[in-house]
Amino acid sequence: MLSIAVAPTQNSNSATLTEAPTCPKCGSPMARRIAKQGANAGQAFYGCSTYPRCRGTMPAS
Ligand SMILES: [Zn+2]
Repeated sequence: MLSIAVAPTQNSNSATLTEAPTCPKCGSPMARRIAKQGANAGQAFYGCSTYPRCRGTMPAS
């Protein structure tokens, strides 16, 4: 059977998805993360997807 499975975008279940910024240090796309410790614990931020090779971060509003 020939079925061309064109999956819908995986993002369809995330209404609040915003376009990921790019790392100011290396230009890689950044991933939204939640700080687990430190003064900003529980707060969202963007971390470089190549972490720990690159530790670029950006605050997520
Ligand atoms: Zn980076």
